[in-house]
Amino acid sequence: MNVSDLEKLWNIVCRNLQHELGGPVASSWISPLSVDKFHAGVLYIKAPSMFLRDWVVNNYLSLILELCKKENKEIKTVELFVSSPRMIVKSEFGKIQEFVPKNEEPDRLGVPLDSKFTFENFVVGKPNEFAYAAALRIAESDKSAFNPLFLYGAVGLGKTHLMHAIAWSVKARFPRKSITYMSAEKFMYLFIRSVRYKDTMAFKEKFRAVDVLMIDDIQFMCGKDSTQEEFFHTFNALVDNNRQVVVSADKSPSDLDGMEERLKSRLGWGLVADIHPTNYELRLSILQSKASTCPVKIPGKVIEFIAHKITTNIRELEGALNRIVASAVFIGREITVETAEEVLADLLRFNDRKVTIEDIQKKVAAHYSIKLNDMSSARKVRHVALPRQVAMYLAKKLTTLSLPEIGKNFGKDHTTVLHACKKITQMMEKDGNLLEDIKLLTKALS
Ligand code: ADP
Ligand code: MG
Repeated sequence: MNVSDLEKLWNIVCRNLQHELGGPVASSWISPLSVDKFHAGVLYIKAPSMFLRDWVVNNYLSLILELCKKENKEIKTVELFVSSPRMIVKSEFGKIQEFVPKNEEPDRLGVPLDSKFTFENFVVGKPNEFAYAAALRIAESDKSAFNPLFLYGAVGLGKTHLMHAIAWSVKARFPRKSITYMSAEKFMYLFIRSVRYKDTMAFKEKFRAVDVLMIDDIQFMCGKDSTQEEFFHTFNALVDNNRQVVVSADKSPSDLDGMEERLKSRLGWGLVADIHPTNYELRLSILQSKASTCPVKIPGKVIEFIAHKITTNIRELEGALNRIVASAVFIGREITVETAEEVLADLLRFNDRKVTIEDIQKKVAAHYSIKLNDMSSARKVRHVALPRQVAMYLAKKLTTLSLPEIGKNFGKDHTTVLHACKKITQMMEKDGNLLEDIKLLTKALS
């Protein structure tokens, strides 16, 4: 098909889609699409944003394919891609050039990178600025600056996003470097397979040949001794050869229970950067940035409302925004705080149930009949110190806050919180009364 045939075909398909979906839906989701090319049975369609692409793929792809096939039998699949944001980068020879992240085929080893997860699309705020700076530093230096970079934080806060961003940026600057990104789960799968097929030499060789190795969600290796051991050797071999290793987890290296001591300590040698739970300002800027690529306009008041109410993580924040947009487009509802409240009812209920550190401090202080002030005082007498440690322990258990953040609320640093958590955990095993107290408090708080 030549260009004008393609355009003709796409116009007919669009008209039929409009007929099937109705005017408002088609004009929101279908009109922004354009046909790009036809090659080897695949019709390539360009979408202006990842948001739109995902939506169309999830909701209309089979319909689009069906309608396309009706017009031309040679079309076997339809693929939507994003006309990606361009990155301006400085190459390894200092030349300024343009680089367009493209979704790629899986390489020999790793899994494909998401073209949306770039530094450009990463909104920086207090909770993630350190991790962002560390990731940028790794991406920009040609020699490994810290090994490994260890990124950690709760789910949905941007660890995977930052890892992909490093990979994109290295790819743009150093096109010849080989970068392998995969989950710890995939690493284990490949390792076990290589053992089963007696192919471990090839496995080792492949991994030792990469310039940048990124393993996501390494907590998955906890309790899996032989995988850990293999990873430990791979890791050391790479570091010895000045290759860069980047690792992510949901906990700090020292908190990775079920991880071999030598691996734990080795993982903590480089740069450890944690991503803290979001604050209001960060949530607001992320929503503003995502809303600017939405097909409908979202009032500032609604954005503030979501930023205020959805506090768990960024993935959920995106989900909330998507839902609101969908309800506006499908049911044609005006976007207001009231409609948002309705559309997000279940999410809001869940977020409301979240325990705050103040709740914990109040409940624990009342339970032990001490003053609320004593929660953050420097007094060390036991009848104050123990309840304080109990509160720290509960804060770690019942909230998503990081150790340093919990510490701040008690006027202490993160090592004090860590110590409190360990101590209470140990004491609970021997002290029935304490165990009972903790059970009661946990119940009252959740
Ligand atoms: P994690 O790996 O920590 O569980 P992800 O990296 O998968 O989290 O992030 C979850 C979602 O939130 C992704 O869609 C990601 O693009 C988005 N996200 C996370 N942090 C940011 C940020 N700072 N700016 C923009 N989007 C973000
Ligand atoms: Mg992740």
